[in-house]
Amino acid sequence: TKEQLKKIIDKIDGKGYKAYKEIEGEYEFEKFTLYIDYVQPDPFAPPSRIRVRVPLSISGFEKELFSNSSRQVALEDFLTRSVAQVIEKLPSIKGTGHSGNIYIDKGGQEILKRSAMVVTENYIEARMNVGLPAFGRKINGRGALTQLLDFIPQIVEKGLLKKNLNVDKIWLWVTTVEDQDYLRNLLKELGLVAFVADGSILPRESGVSDKPLKGKNVVPFKSPESLRVKVTLPNRGEITGMGIPQGVTLIVGGGYHGKSTLLKALERGVYNHIPGDGREFVITVEDAVKIRAEDGRRVEKVDISAFIKNLPNGEDTTSFSTENASGSTSQAANIIEAIEIGTSLLLLDEDTSATNFMIRDARMQKLIAKDEEPITPFIDRVRQLYEQNGISTILVMGGSGDYFDVADCVIKMHNYRPFDVTEEAKKIAQEIKTERKIESEDIPIAVKDRIPLKEGLRAKGKKVKSKDKETIRLGYEEIELDYVEQIVDKSQTNAIAEIIRYMEKYIDERKSLKEILKAVFKDINEKGLEIVSPFYGKHPGNLALPRIQEVAAAINRLRSFKVK
Ligand code: ADP
Ligand code: MG
Repeated sequence: TKEQLKKIIDKIDGKGYKAYKEIEGEYEFEKFTLYIDYVQPDPFAPPSRIRVRVPLSISGFEKELFSNSSRQVALEDFLTRSVAQVIEKLPSIKGTGHSGNIYIDKGGQEILKRSAMVVTENYIEARMNVGLPAFGRKINGRGALTQLLDFIPQIVEKGLLKKNLNVDKIWLWVTTVEDQDYLRNLLKELGLVAFVADGSILPRESGVSDKPLKGKNVVPFKSPESLRVKVTLPNRGEITGMGIPQGVTLIVGGGYHGKSTLLKALERGVYNHIPGDGREFVITVEDAVKIRAEDGRRVEKVDISAFIKNLPNGEDTTSFSTENASGSTSQAANIIEAIEIGTSLLLLDEDTSATNFMIRDARMQKLIAKDEEPITPFIDRVRQLYEQNGISTILVMGGSGDYFDVADCVIKMHNYRPFDVTEEAKKIAQEIKTERKIESEDIPIAVKDRIPLKEGLRAKGKKVKSKDKETIRLGYEEIELDYVEQIVDKSQTNAIAEIIRYMEKYIDERKSLKEILKAVFKDINEKGLEIVSPFYGKHPGNLALPRIQEVAAAINRLRSFKVK
């Protein structure tokens, strides 16, 4: 009970910090159980891990608030933010190192499944990190009493009991996420790959802030009539917006007119967003993958021959490996790897693409003969990708009209407003011929499954950890994720690191990378995200659910990764 906890703290007060180990255990409070799972060895070490478990009957949430997985993730997200808000208002406890800190992993503008909060039919459990208070390296018992016996009960009272929360706001969270998931699942049936609701706010505050841009100069999204789609959502009812059809879509327009901003919003549309974000109903098919050039990355036996063959060094591009890819080879590998793991939509921006990968005009074709150029440009494969592989593309291209010939839909951004200029672009394509020759022979883009080997992925005995959102460490190796743009949360990177450790048990030199990751995600679906943590059943660390695409992307960038 909490009296026992108080007794232990009184006893160890003023002793060396190591004596804190004695408080590991579980303690009954009036309204909840406190689990102290892990105590840090010193005040500067990563903070201690605790959980509070509140019976559902006490917290007061009705089943309707988590009756399906959309609602459950939304309620969990809401409660995490609610706890974070209570923590913010607590007075600070002074001392060395992380003394007195209380932390919950609340996430940013996206709503992701995360390990920080779990709602079940029986209880609500919040997972927090605390810096146990110290003066120097001695235990500050008074501080610990304040933190654990005063602040923690306050957090439960104000942050986790329905009677003290804004119930309308909880319902807004739950119904909004449910509508977002509903719409994402509906896209295919509507023949769309993305939807951008009228009134959406796409631009962000700054390059480093993901919050919506504010002020009178912000132009809310307004769909062109010809692309306007009306959808009826289960909670919000009817909304309208721009539907981007399956096929090849170009986004054109003058510089600074909002092309990249639209594409960025579409990239993020694979995730749900919090009410007030401005992108709540910017919804993209769930398996959309952003493709960019990424010179310097490693590539392990990828068949990029659809895009690149006859390299000057005679290298085989049907099983292409390199420690240092060029702009065009990296972009080709990124596409093939995305297809290997599964995608129905590629997103490309001219700003981050290799020019020679994207276009090759008539004049250049004349100067440099086909057999002198290893690259088959994307323009000559993009239709085939759609017609034979069923993979759509949305491409920002303000710099070359050659793409008019291969586009199904052309959207022009002008003063941050979209216009449907498909007809006009087609007419221009008729009037002004590009005179270029199509360079793709009619061979299918068939992507082979690669079989990972255990060597290179062996995590046993190694430290597998994420350093920051962009870096995972596996032993002495670092995986660089700077250009994996659809990782949006540091805790997703944490989860990917854990998955790399966890997946080892499925590697048997017969299963493909996709099969292995499918098995991992099946476990996650059945047993929860924390199944990948070595501390399953306790505070599992701060994890947020990544997509299978980003997990594969991380593995593909691991320099020791080897396939059969
Ligand atoms: P492009 O890719 O066409 O060159 P960007 O998408 O990079 O243009 O946008 C240029 C600038 O305009 C950015 O600073 C962006 O934040 C801002 N911006 C984009 N869309 C809007 C909008 N709807 N309202 C106000 N500002 C916007
Ligand atoms: Mg741009």
